[in-house]
Amino acid sequence: MDNTADVIIIGGGIIGSATGHYLAKKGLKVYLFEKDYLTAGSTGRCICGIRQQFSTELSIKVAMESLKKFAFMHEELEHDVEFHQGGYLFLSHSEEKTETYKKLIVIQQKMGLDVSYIGVPEIEKLVPGISTVDLLGGAYCPSDAQANPFLVVHGYVKTIRKNGHVFDHTEIKAINTDHGRVTSVTTDRNVIYYAPIIVNAAGPSVSDVALMVNLDIPVYPERHEAMITEQIERFFDMMIVDYRPDGCYFNQKWGKGSIIGCYTPIPVKPGKDTGTSFAFAKEMGRRMARLIPKLKNIKIIRQWSGSYSMTPDGNPIVDCTDIEGFWIVGGMCGHGFMLGPEIGWIAAEHIIDQSCPYDMSTFALNRDFSSKEVMK
Ligand SMILES: Cc1cc2nc3c(=O)[nH]c(=O)nc-3n(C[C@H](O)[C@H](O)[C@H](O)COP(=O)(O)OP(=O)(O)OC[C@H]3O[C@@H](n4cnc5c(N)ncnc54)[C@H](O)[C@@H]3O)c2cc1C
Repeated sequence: MDNTADVIIIGGGIIGSATGHYLAKKGLKVYLFEKDYLTAGSTGRCICGIRQQFSTELSIKVAMESLKKFAFMHEELEHDVEFHQGGYLFLSHSEEKTETYKKLIVIQQKMGLDVSYIGVPEIEKLVPGISTVDLLGGAYCPSDAQANPFLVVHGYVKTIRKNGHVFDHTEIKAINTDHGRVTSVTTDRNVIYYAPIIVNAAGPSVSDVALMVNLDIPVYPERHEAMITEQIERFFDMMIVDYRPDGCYFNQKWGKGSIIGCYTPIPVKPGKDTGTSFAFAKEMGRRMARLIPKLKNIKIIRQWSGSYSMTPDGNPIVDCTDIEGFWIVGGMCGHGFMLGPEIGWIAAEHIIDQSCPYDMSTFALNRDFSSKEVMK
């Protein structure tokens, strides 16, 4: 194996592996570097939800296209990725939320999404035993889904390996440039690998990697804890999202019956620390049982944490930079798994053709970050 590739990718999560998969499919020789094991970052720590309910046309389109790619993934990657369309249900406990969801549903339906606002009786049928205290209704999209991130990433890297190489347990320590363009990377073993294109897909470390070429980008890591319960008989099919300040989100794993979930703490916790807390386990149990009282005695069997890579407006960054050949594909916030397949495809198209498959200004590096993704 020589030290030169067409493209070097830094990061072995869904974003790096999906981008590498689509580049490799076009015949490029890709070298992907992962400092730990594949999926060791946020990707292996997510709760596996795939939804299409977003608030901007671009995010909705990317999410819908991504879902299509998930749906055919078992054929494309030639193995099952545990994809299951059980839907997403965003609960509303206030008039304000109901109004927001109804407004967004108009945009989402216009784009062809099978989403609708449903009332409490229908919710009770979909989630037997759900508490109806303060419940007004919810935004329900039955085609939203779940899949297994480990199986997805391992499928994507199979394609990269056909013509390139995956270097796990290999950290990139420096990105080398010459006259304003990237030339190579230096690993923690002090080996240099060369490529005219380097993609920064380092997830919560995307800003640290950008700093290797003195680029300051607006992405910061935010800690999130998560948990999974013992297996119980399946009684609901969708991701339930309770966006109240003390709400939570969880779904029941397809085929297995465990409930997997998390919540966003207030105030949010910045950083990349992967420790866990008893406070989270206790509070998550309380929040789930408030929504579905029969979950009161269910046992949490594992907990962990990971980081979102947050941008100020809640949308990703998919763009080239002023340093020739250096690309940023990051800032996925809490949506990188669900958006990953389409983001990887877009990034690959963008890199190969130097043109966007569709208007990507919402994901540009130098955009105005003052707007906000409402469904974040
Ligand atoms: C608790 C939790 C729940 C979530 N739930 C969902 C969900 O239900 N649905 C959803 O779509 N998203 C969810 N997310 C968000 C999702 O996990 C992320 O958006 C997504 O995984 C980001 O993928 P990535 O490839 O950009 O980053 P990562 O998966 O973090 O991959 C980046 C990789 O880069 C590597 N790396 C960093 N620096 C270097 C270096 N210098 N050299 C080599 N390698 C390096 C890291 O080790 C890491 O493996 C959740 C996240 C968390 C934490």
